Amino acid sequence: MLDNGGMKKKAHKNTKKTVRPQDGMPVGKCQFSNKKQYVSEDAALKAMAHNVQSRSARSIMRGWVHAGDPFYHPIVKNECRAYKCPVCKLWHLTSVADPEHVRLTTRELMELHPEAMAVADKWLRTNTCGTSAYGDLRTNVVRSLADSKVADELWVEEWLWAIARSLYSRKLRLGQWHEWARMIAEGYAKTDDVMKPDASSKADFALISHITTDTDEMTELFNTPAHIAIIAAWQAYLHDELSRLNREAEPEA
Ligand SMILES: [Zn+2]
Repeated sequence: MLDNGGMKKKAHKNTKKTVRPQDGMPVGKCQFSNKKQYVSEDAALKAMAHNVQSRSARSIMRGWVHAGDPFYHPIVKNECRAYKCPVCKLWHLTSVADPEHVRLTTRELMELHPEAMAVADKWLRTNTCGTSAYGDLRTNVVRSLADSKVADELWVEEWLWAIARSLYSRKLRLGQWHEWARMIAEGYAKTDDVMKPDASSKADFALISHITTDTDEMTELFNTPAHIAIIAAWQAYLHDELSRLNREAEPEA
């Protein structure tokens, strides 16, 4: 009996093998999503299969999987798919079945749009929009553009950020930023035309002076073609807001 016990212990030690990255050992954590990183899709799927096994093993024989197990997850996850992370370029697992519905974090979205963030910095880091407001505004705009699937081409447009800065003073809630972004996406689906502001037009002058703070900014916008979708969404937004204010101002009949 004693010998048998000793044998078992020894045999258990020998079957314990080192898990390699290609077999599903995570190689680190993504600094943007905080998810475990796997070297390939195959490795991620192996880890996922092991997670599923560990879950059923736990439910059948409690204590069979222990905290020292490299695959041990104290929280049950329902991962069903692996995807390549656009930011860290390694593989993660997700419980979201449809690839279209993986929602990137705002931080990931910013990493993916460096050119748009440069334009955002330019327009938002001025005295008209304090530094603490700047972060909130940028976050709300990025989130809204992504959720409404606004084309990348529009993310880098000077007009978009100039208008966003102007809208900020109206203290939009996140839902209103989404509404604005949705109007841009809808307008862009109808036309991707651009229009060049006309310096001799009083209407264009009024439009531009409304959202700029100095002559340098004015000159810049006069020389920058604007997507009609962006201008239309802005005007529609102001129109809705004006109608609401008018309705509220009218006494009940
Ligand atoms: Zn990642």
